[in-house]
Amino acid sequence: MKIRVSSAQLRSIGIAIVTATIIIGFGWAMQFPQESSVTPTPTGTVSSAPTLPTPKPLPTVSAVPSVAPIASPSPIPSATPKAITKPSPDVKTLYGHLPYQEDDPSRLVSIGKYVRGTYERAESLDIEAAQAFQQMVTAAQAQGISLMPISGFRTIANQKELFDRQIQRRGSAEAAAQLSAPPGHSEHHTGYAIDIADQQQPDTDLKYSFEQTKAYQWLNANAYQFGFEQSFPKNNWQGVSNEPWHWRYVVSSRASQVFAVAKRGDLAN
Ligand SMILES: [Zn+2]
Repeated sequence: MKIRVSSAQLRSIGIAIVTATIIIGFGWAMQFPQESSVTPTPTGTVSSAPTLPTPKPLPTVSAVPSVAPIASPSPIPSATPKAITKPSPDVKTLYGHLPYQEDDPSRLVSIGKYVRGTYERAESLDIEAAQAFQQMVTAAQAQGISLMPISGFRTIANQKELFDRQIQRRGSAEAAAQLSAPPGHSEHHTGYAIDIADQQQPDTDLKYSFEQTKAYQWLNANAYQFGFEQSFPKNNWQGVSNEPWHWRYVVSSRASQVFAVAKRGDLAN
């Protein structure tokens, strides 16, 4: 039996086949998303786009508990010492220098020697300051900086000799006091103060040019970590000349008691 198929029927069948192919193909494609449309996601991350959390409304001012002001019997002192030369009226100074007592000799320990050429002098500090100083020397050494003690603890008798020599040079006690503390008024009596040198720069010992040395730059950046501070920076409240070489240990409870008088002046001015 011969089946006759007209060209019109052939065209209809062809259209039907193409249409079916398109529909089936589309269904297939819908089941399996194309590779290019899948973004590979790293393990452990959320593949869906992150949604921003809805911002919470800010608490209203009334919801914040109010802090009762602390009653202060006296005006709050300024934390920044001002550049003045007049000490606080309740701190008795002599030419700007505060009174200090000699440290207990049994607390003094060696911190090494001041050595220049053939000259040598053994120096000591209170045990607390001595330990901190040794740690500081070691830390500086590790960075190529050589700190050397010039002068640590001094008795009142030592200081009298130094001061009398300055009076002879400068003509008066007032003039001498610009470079040296009168006996009984030196931080060196406490065992917590030390004059420091750059071992590599002998010409800067006890001179303003010490500020240009690597040792000073290092101290300025790091000494506080070991409990040391400059006693007489520029424009200190005591009006004592800037002494970049002179540092004091202040962080132990004993040291902070010793220097309470100096700190009170810092706060009062
Ligand atoms: Zn000094």
